[in-house]
Amino acid sequence: MDFELPEDHDAIVATVRRVVETEIAPALGAYETSGEFPYPIIRRMGEAGLFGAAFPEALGGTDAGFFAVVAIAEELSRLAPEFGYAMNQQSMTCPLTILNWGSNAQSERFVPDLIAGRAIGMFALSEPGGGSDAAGAMKTTARRHGDSYRLNGSKQWITFANACDTGLLFAKTDPAAGHAGISAFVVEPKRRPGYAAHPIAMSGLSNCLRSCAVFLDDFEVAVENRLGGEGEGFRIAMNALEYGRLTVAARLTGLAQACFEHAVAYCRSRVIRGRPLGEYQMIQQLIADMAADVPAARALTWKAAWCMQTGRPATRAAAQAKYFAGKVARQAAQGAAEIFAGYALADDYPIKKITAYVNMLTVGEGTPNVQRILLAEDALGIKPADRHPVKKPARGDLRR
Ligand SMILES: Cc1cc2nc3c(=O)[nH]c(=O)nc-3n(C[C@H](O)[C@H](O)[C@H](O)COP(=O)(O)OP(=O)(O)OC[C@H]3O[C@@H](n4cnc5c(N)ncnc54)[C@H](O)[C@@H]3O)c2cc1C
Repeated sequence: MDFELPEDHDAIVATVRRVVETEIAPALGAYETSGEFPYPIIRRMGEAGLFGAAFPEALGGTDAGFFAVVAIAEELSRLAPEFGYAMNQQSMTCPLTILNWGSNAQSERFVPDLIAGRAIGMFALSEPGGGSDAAGAMKTTARRHGDSYRLNGSKQWITFANACDTGLLFAKTDPAAGHAGISAFVVEPKRRPGYAAHPIAMSGLSNCLRSCAVFLDDFEVAVENRLGGEGEGFRIAMNALEYGRLTVAARLTGLAQACFEHAVAYCRSRVIRGRPLGEYQMIQQLIADMAADVPAARALTWKAAWCMQTGRPATRAAAQAKYFAGKVARQAAQGAAEIFAGYALADDYPIKKITAYVNMLTVGEGTPNVQRILLAEDALGIKPADRHPVKKPARGDLRR
C-alpha cells in the first residue's frame, strides 16, 4: 500500500488552476450572459491537455493516465463546476468510448479533435421515457438504407448537444430485440440534416454549457460511423458509463471539497454572539463530517482510477465511488448550507451553485438507486458487477 500521490499530480492540478484563472474566470460571466457556447475556452482546455490524459500521444493525448483524469476532474469541479461536464463529452464517455470500441480508422478520425477541444462531443443515450432503464425506454430507431442509416426519435438531457460536432448516439437497429437491438453511432450533427437540439431551461446550472432535448428526423449516419457491430450498442453504453462514473465521482469529490473549504472559511470569519461560528460544537460536527467524508470519497475514486489504470475490471469500483461521492457531496452541500444559512441562497455566494451541480451529478451517469441496484445485486451474488472482460482498444499500440 502506498498513499503517495503520483509525481506529476501537483503539476497537473496547477495546470487546471492556471486554465481556470486565465481562461475561464475572466470570460465566464460574458458567456453566461449571452448564453453562447464557449468554444474558445474548451479549445484552450484541450490545448492545455486537460482532456487527453487517458489517450496515447499518437492521438494527441498526454498518456498521463486515469489518476490524472480524476485529479483534473476534481480540481476543475472544485473551481469551475460548469466546465466539469467537458470531462465526459471531451474525454471519457465520448472519445474514450470511440478509442475503446471503434476501429483504428475511427479513432484516428475522431479522437484527436475531440481531446484537443477542436470538436465538441456528446453522449446521447437518455430519452424522454427514462434514463435509468435506457434500453427499455429507448424509442429512437436506426434503419439502414444502403450505405447509411436514418435515425428517427428523440433524446433528452443531452449535454452539449446544441454545440456538438462529433458525438455518440444510441438507437435501435432491431426494436424487437430489446438490449440486443441497440447500436452505437458516431454522429456529426453539423454535417447532416435532420438533427435539432434545444437547451432545456434549468436555472441554477450554466446558461452557456447546456443539456438539451434532441430531435431526429431522418437524420443520416454513414454505415462507416457505426461503432462496433449492430446490436453491440448497449454493452458499449454501459462500458462508457463506467468511465463516466469515474469523472462524476471525482467531480462530486471536488464539489464536496469546495463545500468544506468554503464552510471552514465562513466559520472563521462569521462572528455570532461575540465568537467565531467555528467555535460552536454543533457547527464543528458539520465540519468534522466533511473532514472525514471528503477524503474517503476521494480514496474510493482513486481506487476506481487504479482499477482502470492497471487494466482490472472497474464496474464495482466505479459504482462504489460514484454512489459514495454522491452521498458525501450531498451531505457536504447540506452542511455548508446550514452554516451559510441565508447566504446559502444568495447568488453572490458559492453554495447555491455548488448545490445545483451536486444535485445534477447525483442523477447523471446513473441515479443513486441505479448504483444501489448494481452494488446490492453484486453483494448478494445475483449479478457480479465485474463479470465483463475489460475492453481494450482495437489496436494495442494506440495505447500504452
Ligand atoms: C443536467 C443533466 C445532464 C445530463 N446529461 C446527459 C447526457 O449528456 N447524456 C445522457 O444520455 N443523459 C444525460 N442525462 C440524463 C441522466 O443520465 C438521467 O436523468 C438519469 O439517468 C435518470 O433518468 P431519468 O431522469 O429519466 O429518471 P428515471 O429513470 O425516470 O428515474 C426516476 C426515479 O426512479 C428511480 N428508479 C429507476 N429505476 C428504478 C428501479 N429499478 N428501482 C428503484 N428505483 C428506480 C430512479 O433512481 C429515480 O429516482 C443528464 C441529466 C441531467 C439532469
